[in-house]
Amino acid sequence: MKTLLIMILVVTTVAAKNPTPVEKFGPLKVTGNQITDMNGKAVQLRGVSLFWSQWIGKYYNADAVRWLVKDWNVNVVRAAMAVDNRGYATNRAEQEKIIKVIDAAIAEGIYVIVDFHVHDANKYLNEAKEFFGVIAQRYGKYPNLIYEPWNEPVHHSWSQVIKPYHEAVIEVIRKQDPDNLIICGTRTWSQNVEEASLDPIKGTNIAYTLHFYASTHKQELRDLASRAIANGIALMVTEYGTCEATGDGYVNKEEMDAWWKFMDDHKLSHCNWSLADKKESASILLPNARPDGGWTDSDLTPSGKMVREEIRTKNK
Ligand code: MG
Repeated sequence: MKTLLIMILVVTTVAAKNPTPVEKFGPLKVTGNQITDMNGKAVQLRGVSLFWSQWIGKYYNADAVRWLVKDWNVNVVRAAMAVDNRGYATNRAEQEKIIKVIDAAIAEGIYVIVDFHVHDANKYLNEAKEFFGVIAQRYGKYPNLIYEPWNEPVHHSWSQVIKPYHEAVIEVIRKQDPDNLIICGTRTWSQNVEEASLDPIKGTNIAYTLHFYASTHKQELRDLASRAIANGIALMVTEYGTCEATGDGYVNKEEMDAWWKFMDDHKLSHCNWSLADKKESASILLPNARPDGGWTDSDLTPSGKMVREEIRTKNK
């Protein structure tokens, strides 16, 4: 009996010592221009985004997520569900990959961004409503879930197209899930957060997507983001690259350091694009890296090594 009691004590102590990120921060919310934890304290998540699900689906598995938690200390992952180009719009089974990642994130106690990854989401409003309705009904009770209804609008009008689209999807989500974060894409590949800050969406726990690629987008975009924050909206960097906006080209360490400082200063959560082995600068993995984690330095690209170091060190 005594041994059993001691064992229970030890197990409880260990569990108490190492709460998962979701146990630590709880349900996230938007408080003013900040994303905050359950106690209203600003929270910054660091993690990675997976690649377009239909093109590189092999990393959409529980082992890969578990490895990212164990070895990288990620506290968020982003599942980028393809919609057009043979994605969800024509193949509903695409959502099974996303569900695998959601289930893995819940099992690991980290946050998961469910991203409707398409540039013309307005053409797929019915599909978005269907998809997010199912996801919100099934997962809205879990604090882990973060919705991202439109990855990157391009030149669509914010007030005439993008905002009404978000409002329509938000209505569907909120019928099932009153409170989880919804991160809304903004015009010009989710860069024009200032425009959104001048005409924000009404509702609870709504924030906005800011994307950047460090070799292309620099101080000018940081200044724009600062103005949006000053105008009162909360931002999340659901996707960023260390290289050029093409996903390839020069990996800019200096500019990344400026961005990481900016995101730390403003407590902006971020996910690196992307967990993929495509032969391009933005990829975290070298071609043919195994799908189930266990990656060593020899599997990582220069960008992958840099991003891992940033996340591992700061998410301690
Ligand atoms: Mg909820």
